[in-house]
Formats: sequence, structure tokens, C-alpha cells
Amino acid sequence: MASSDDTNVGYKVHIDRALCTSCGLCEAFCPVNVFEMNDGPQAVRPEDCWGCETCAGQCPVHAIRIEASPAAKAAFEEREVAAPLDPEIKARYREWAQVLTDVLGLRWHPVAISLVKAGDPLPDVPMPEERLRFCQSLMAARRGRSLMMPANRHACPDGTSILGLTPMPEKLASGELYILFHKLDSVEAAKRMVHERPCLPPRTVDATVVTPLSDAACEAEVVAIVAQPEQIMWLSMATSYYTGHRHDFHASGYNAQCVETTLLPMTTGEINISFGCYGCRASSDVGDDCMMMGIPVSLMPQVVKGLKELGKKAIPQSRDKIYLPPF
Ligand code: SF4
Ligand code: SF4
Repeated sequence: MASSDDTNVGYKVHIDRALCTSCGLCEAFCPVNVFEMNDGPQAVRPEDCWGCETCAGQCPVHAIRIEASPAAKAAFEEREVAAPLDPEIKARYREWAQVLTDVLGLRWHPVAISLVKAGDPLPDVPMPEERLRFCQSLMAARRGRSLMMPANRHACPDGTSILGLTPMPEKLASGELYILFHKLDSVEAAKRMVHERPCLPPRTVDATVVTPLSDAACEAEVVAIVAQPEQIMWLSMATSYYTGHRHDFHASGYNAQCVETTLLPMTTGEINISFGCYGCRASSDVGDDCMMMGIPVSLMPQVVKGLKELGKKAIPQSRDKIYLPPF
């Protein structure tokens, strides 16, 4: 096994040459250009490595291992732990979760999403052993798991950079990689898709946290719901119940959970829907008949109140199909 020989680094890159097929994915995806392809991948700028493990997550043959120095390990392990969530907020979230579940008949937990800002204390939430995509973590949370993921627990370079955990790898920003994966017709189209989506500044977020809303460990920024279109429709109507406001949803089939369900509601303060994206549909157990909604926490009181009203007559009557002609 070869490794970078630089000793003045927080992280060392080890590449198992016996496994490596020189596919170049590590070079393409490293957000800080540590690698160059020169008779196989070489870690030519090891001092720039900050241990995000994007390369290891992308290597199809698991040939890369990142070794953290004792100082780098200690820096993470000794991070301040956040105080437990205020019991009043916890009780409020539980009540919201109950209303959503009862009125809509949700099958899965609504999910509380938070992004831990750089340097903030970390909530007491377990990290997964394996690397997961953000969408996979969200799907696991809807089934009851609580997960905190710093960059090196994330498996999707797109989501990780969009959510501000890493810089955007150059070949993703330029659109080049999307062409490679046959997802868009031209580099111009890929560039436009990248340009039109929001993206947090690099390394402004230290970890993503997803938990069932009824068991949140820290203040949520967005509540995500995975549900059938009819249930999402009622949520949309609940949001408008007191205002009549019609929504302009932003959906594309790209970056469903990171952009459409999380970042858009977080940055616009409006609800947003998503039909899912090719990534989350291929890599998680989300049903073909499900879609998603992201609700900024600031709108939750209004949504829950509107939903309670709709649940009194409108929802049961509609589900009873009262407009069908008698037969
Ligand atoms: S992808 Fe991350 S872990 Fe891998 S070499 Fe680049 S900075 Fe280091
Ligand atoms: S991603 Fe893995 S197999 Fe591909 S070049 Fe890098 S180390 Fe080799």
C-alpha cells in the first residue's frame, strides 16, 4: 500500500495500488484537488487534504483509506456537545408530528432536519458506521433513525457540497461529470442546472442532522415529509388555509433531498415539493408512489393549524369521494 509521504498533514491518503484500477474518480471528486493522475492517482497536494473522505466514498474498489492524525482526531472528538433540546420545543415538535400523522394518516415519521454550522457544538446524535447519501439518511430518519453526518460520513459529493460541508468539486461545478453519467444532453445544460440550484458556501456546515420530528435532538430548520401525492396536496392546502396563497414550487428531478426538500425551504422560507431525483430513487427505499415536501420550521405552526381545520371536514369528505355520482 502506498501513501502520501508528507508528514506535515492532518490526514494521510493511502492508496492500495493492488486494488486501484486508475479510474480517476478520486481525482475528479476531490473538492480540493489533492490528486493528479500520473501513472495512477498520486496525492500530490496532501497538505490540502482535510479528511472529507469524498475520494474514499467514490472509489469503486475501496482502494483509498484516509488516516487522521491524532491531532485531527482529537479536534473532532473534543468538540463541545450541544445542550439537550429545550423540553418545550421538544413537546411542540411531538405535537406537530402527532397532528401530521393523525390527520394525514402518514405511514412514516416526519423528519426534522438541521445543519450544524461550522464551529457550533455538535448535538448528541449517533453517526452512522457506513457512509450514507444525505437522501439515504433522510429515508432512514423517516423510519425512526437519528443520524448526524459530518463530511466524512457523506457518500454523495453533490449533496455534501450543496449543503456546505465541502467545496464543490470542479468537475461537478463545471457540469462535466453530469455528462459522464448521461444525465444531461450537454455541458451547457449541466452548467445551467448547477447554476440554478442554491448551494451553501463551502465549509460553512460541519454536519447534517436528521431525526424523527418526535425525537429531535436539536432545533430543526426544516421538516421533511415523505408521503403520497394526496397527502402532500393537503399539506400544500394547509399552508394556504389562512392566506389563499398559491405556491410556486421548484422541482427538477435533480438533487431532490439536499436542494428541493432541504435547502430551498431553508433559504426561501417557503414550502417546496420534490418528485425525488434519480439519485435518491436509485439509492434509497423511497416508494415509486411517494414524493416529498420540505416545510421551513417557521411555517409549521401555520401548517399544523390549517391541517387541523382541514382534518375536521374537508379531508374525510374528500376521501369519502363525495363528488362521485351515486351508483
Ligand atoms: S477527497 Fe477529501 S479526503 Fe480525499 S484527498 Fe480530497 S480532501 Fe482528502
Ligand atoms: S477512485 Fe479508486 S480505483 Fe479509481 S483511481 Fe482513485 S484509487 Fe484508483
